[in-house]
Amino acid sequence: MTFDIITLFPEFFEFYLNHSILKKAQEKKIVKINVINLRDFAVDKHKTVDDKPFGGGRGMVVKLEPIFKAVSSLTKFKIQNSKFKITDKKSKIILFTPRGKKFNQKIAYQFSKLDRIILICGRYEGVDERVAKYIADEEISIGDYVLMGGDLPALIVIETITRLIPGVIGKSELLKERITKEKGFIEYPQYTRPEVFNSKKRVSWRVPKILLSGNHKKIEEWRKKHQKVIE
Ligand code: SAM
Repeated sequence: MTFDIITLFPEFFEFYLNHSILKKAQEKKIVKINVINLRDFAVDKHKTVDDKPFGGGRGMVVKLEPIFKAVSSLTKFKIQNSKFKITDKKSKIILFTPRGKKFNQKIAYQFSKLDRIILICGRYEGVDERVAKYIADEEISIGDYVLMGGDLPALIVIETITRLIPGVIGKSELLKERITKEKGFIEYPQYTRPEVFNSKKRVSWRVPKILLSGNHKKIEEWRKKHQKVIE
């Protein structure tokens, strides 16, 4: 799986992509993550990537041309019915916008089957709407709130998908079964020692008895009952 992040702040990603699961997944060559500076695709000598909104109003809007140039440099494409179409069926272009489809575990499972995802991070007052209309395959939101940019959403989406790729965090058989069912699963609650937590005898917080029973069938039933399924 290759992720291409198109951003105005490439340095933002350095730390996060080079730690923990994402670092290991790249080292194992299970994923490749390219960070692309949108400014490198500006079409003027001042490297301008934003402009005033038509119709007036506050703030600046990320321009269409540098995004078109950046995306075209990454993949083979054709123009079909006036739309940008990647020729490889297992690739997708995602634009982050708070107006998009809300990202969840089920969408992450579907995306985890792709070979390449190009992620466009907006900034300022947003991105020229023609990117959503003609270039992006999907408009994705990570929740009903407004952030400064699409950079955090890109990290969230990359991390969620990467965890689901077999070989990244083990449990591959379990993941395979879940992926083929096309459902999103969020696991059951977990407990660890001590069995009972007493703070100066004021509380007595216990682990559910079933988890200490050693009865694997009953534990599996309890876990199934407590997992969250996203249809
Ligand atoms: N004026 C826009 C509006 O109210 O919809 C907000 C633009 S926001 C300040 C700048 C960029 O951050 C957006 O273009 C988008 O890429 C990203 N962004 C902000 N909130 C987001 C969210 N909840 N999910 C995904 N992307 C988001």
